[in-house]
Amino acid sequence: MNVAVIGTGYVGLVAATCFAESGNSVICVDNNEKKINDLLNGNIPIYEPGLTELVQRNLKAGRLIPTMDIKFAVEKSNIIFLAVGTPPGPDGHADLSAVFAVAESIAKAMNDYKIIVNKSTVPVGTADKVREKITAITNIQFDVVSNPEFMKEGAALDDFLKPERVVIGASSQKAAEIIRELYSPFTRTGAATLVMDNRSAEMCKYASNAMLASRISFMNEVANICDKVGADVHFVRLAMGLDSRIGKRFLFSGVGYGGSCFPKDVQALAATAKHNGYNPILIDAIESVNENQKKILVNKIKNHFGEDLSDKTFAVWGLAFKPQTDDMREAPSIVIINELLAAGARIKAYDPVATETAKAVFGDTISYFDSRDDVLENSDALILITEWNEFRSPDFGKIKNKLKNPVIFDGRNQFELDEMKQLGFTYYSIGRPAIE
Ligand code: NAD
Repeated sequence: MNVAVIGTGYVGLVAATCFAESGNSVICVDNNEKKINDLLNGNIPIYEPGLTELVQRNLKAGRLIPTMDIKFAVEKSNIIFLAVGTPPGPDGHADLSAVFAVAESIAKAMNDYKIIVNKSTVPVGTADKVREKITAITNIQFDVVSNPEFMKEGAALDDFLKPERVVIGASSQKAAEIIRELYSPFTRTGAATLVMDNRSAEMCKYASNAMLASRISFMNEVANICDKVGADVHFVRLAMGLDSRIGKRFLFSGVGYGGSCFPKDVQALAATAKHNGYNPILIDAIESVNENQKKILVNKIKNHFGEDLSDKTFAVWGLAFKPQTDDMREAPSIVIINELLAAGARIKAYDPVATETAKAVFGDTISYFDSRDDVLENSDALILITEWNEFRSPDFGKIKNKLKNPVIFDGRNQFELDEMKQLGFTYYSIGRPAIE
């Protein structure tokens, strides 16, 4: 099939590459000249494991064609995906300006029947609005399909090539079948393809992300109660997870969720509810628990060292909002580090891949290092924010030798309490008794 993907970010580039990998001819479009030039030279503008190799292979085979020319892409393609950003507007509603701008560009360039597939996360009713905008510009036939994306950054290729489900929202059976066929190489192993109306498909994505975020906020709240009553959230999580109605996944407490999806999607769902006259009490609470959670580690640091941190230097492990990505959007590290800086602290930070994206956030307010060991030298404590694999089994002897004081603040509950005690660390984690 001839496919165009408009918006070559995390979602668009992965989707375009995977469709090309399964034999389609894919034109990927972006209005960011640097991104397209980088891609034309085989350089991938984002960090995503395995993606570089796959992009380069498909560029070489001529199945993946990067361009800024949306008209060319529309004319050559029967299926056109929208994968542009939908960031939060000031009132929490998703900002759909990029979606509508692209819809209008598509309408102006349409030369025959097209299936326009919205892969961006968009509020319920957006497919109808896209339809209206295009109809106002052209008489050419088209269908609008809502196809939310469920990939996780850091495992995006695997998620796309082996999805757990594909959701297709369409008012046309013909369009739904064509999109089902496009996905069939990825669903042969038995993944469900669910065909439904546009509005339900749009709602699926928000409901799924809000549910996942609610598990995180719920467990963070349980952890905070554990802290107050002297229980250990580690054991509580294990016991809860063995109940098959609850399940083991997504029950980890920490310093809150971040990233480009959960925060904005929870806010957008709440905004949609309110706009439609419904007060989303639970969904609002997910967000406020999360905001509070980003400060929990700072409170522990101040309880230990005092409010004034002006003579303190902290070693930080992990800046990205989660492991396996360089994405800093809404990363809890931003709140934690800014609070510490405001209290006068100095920060020496290490992240395996997010240094460059972090520089765009923190500038020269913190120092960046190339190894997990270098940040420890003469620091007053280690703060673990993102649970990269390389932080899981560190050389504790080295940590102790290099730090001024053997103090660890672990925002991701990575280390065993007994081991920390035996090794003589002062150790604070989330929802587990402090080792002092
Ligand atoms: P992104 O910011 O990484 O990529 C968006 C791209 O669109 C950028 O490269 C930008 O330059 C381009 N763009 C913006 N306006 C354009 C225009 N008018 N013409 C051409 N290109 C334009 O965003 P993302 O993380 O890929 O997310 C895209 C959508 O997918 C969002 O709605 C997001 O919520 C959703 N989503 C993201 C993820 C994820 O893990 N990142 C997962 C599922 C769904």
